[in-house]
Amino acid sequence: MVLDPATLTVAFILLSAVLGTLLIFSWTLNRRLNAMAWWGSAFWLIAIGIGWANLGKGPPSYAVLLLANSLGILSYGALYVGCRVFNKRRGILLPGGLGLIVWVCAFPFIHQSQGYRLILASLLTGVYAALSAWELRRHAIQALASQRVTVMLLASLAVFNLLRGLLGISLTSVPWIDTFARRWSSEMALFLVVFGPTLAFMFLSMAKERLKFEYKQAALVDDLTGIPNRRAFLQAASKLLDRLNGRPASCLLFDLDNFKAINDRYGHAAGDRILCVFGDLLTKNLPRGAFGRLGGEEFAAILPVGVQDAAEVAEKIRHAFAAAGMAALGSDEEVTVSVGCATAPTTTAEDLLRRADHALYRAKESGRNLVVAA
Ligand code: GH3
Ligand code: MG
Ligand code: MG
Repeated sequence: MVLDPATLTVAFILLSAVLGTLLIFSWTLNRRLNAMAWWGSAFWLIAIGIGWANLGKGPPSYAVLLLANSLGILSYGALYVGCRVFNKRRGILLPGGLGLIVWVCAFPFIHQSQGYRLILASLLTGVYAALSAWELRRHAIQALASQRVTVMLLASLAVFNLLRGLLGISLTSVPWIDTFARRWSSEMALFLVVFGPTLAFMFLSMAKERLKFEYKQAALVDDLTGIPNRRAFLQAASKLLDRLNGRPASCLLFDLDNFKAINDRYGHAAGDRILCVFGDLLTKNLPRGAFGRLGGEEFAAILPVGVQDAAEVAEKIRHAFAAAGMAALGSDEEVTVSVGCATAPTTTAEDLLRRADHALYRAKESGRNLVVAA
């Protein structure tokens, strides 16, 4: 197969520009994902850099070598910054520009040697690719499947660039090493023509997965307390009841006592604080996914245990809340919770909740700050 270097170079430049545009376009559709703008810029920078260095007639001048390679290195800086931004990490200008600074400072000393230029540019881009892979792996906010694939792609890009740099150091005359380590070759253009769209596709997948995760989070998590909301609780409860397959389950329904009065006396913000304290208490004392905020000052939990054990758990939470609530309010007034508890085999989550609600009603009638079993 004959690979025409000029054609492949033009294909690579056009492809990079199109991919850069698509990434920036997807950023304009959702401005929260600023990483897409950085990654889109990275594709544009490499397109301009490679085009400038390779499409001119005759050997490139001092200025072209300096600036075109600067754009290439800056492109990798933008790639890395995009990864940091995607992980919502701060500090972007220095890490993104450091490679460029090193290049510009070193250039006057190495500009006459193609070998040294190759080594430095390859090492800088290799380090940036490695840092990008490390960033996405080490500081991932969520476990996104596409992020793991991107880590592998970036790690292989790092190996590719670092190898070019290291092989360039020896500058052997073995043909395949020459091809691999040359400043720019049709094989390399071919590799990048395949690699570029794959990487851009993975970036888009990461963005899509992140958005899906956030929407799911918004649909299932209570804004104020950060614990599961009513919908998430009912889903989890139904799943648990299915799994138990006829064995008993207990539902606890919590309602903070005289909460309206607390809001009236201490203000809505203090009320919100108390709700968060109660959410934290549930998180500390109950298994993950076994509880939720149903709305207002009502919370619920479901446990695969009998009435005795469930009532014990409820008592523990009631006691803990009396202390924690008072501390959050910063006064010696007690904040208390009443709990209704219902246990049944083979039933629905809604039915258990209804029965727990009857028990809760009795707890309120009996003077509040009580656990009552149905
Ligand atoms: P009881 O002991 O009978 O349950 O009395 P209560 O005052 O707790 O019950 P009621 O249903 O009369 O009032 C509930 C109050 O909860 C009214 C509402 O202002 C307050 N509330 C509901 N949601 C929130 C919230 O998100 N933040 C705050 N601060 N208050 C809330
Ligand atoms: Mg209520
Ligand atoms: Mg109440």
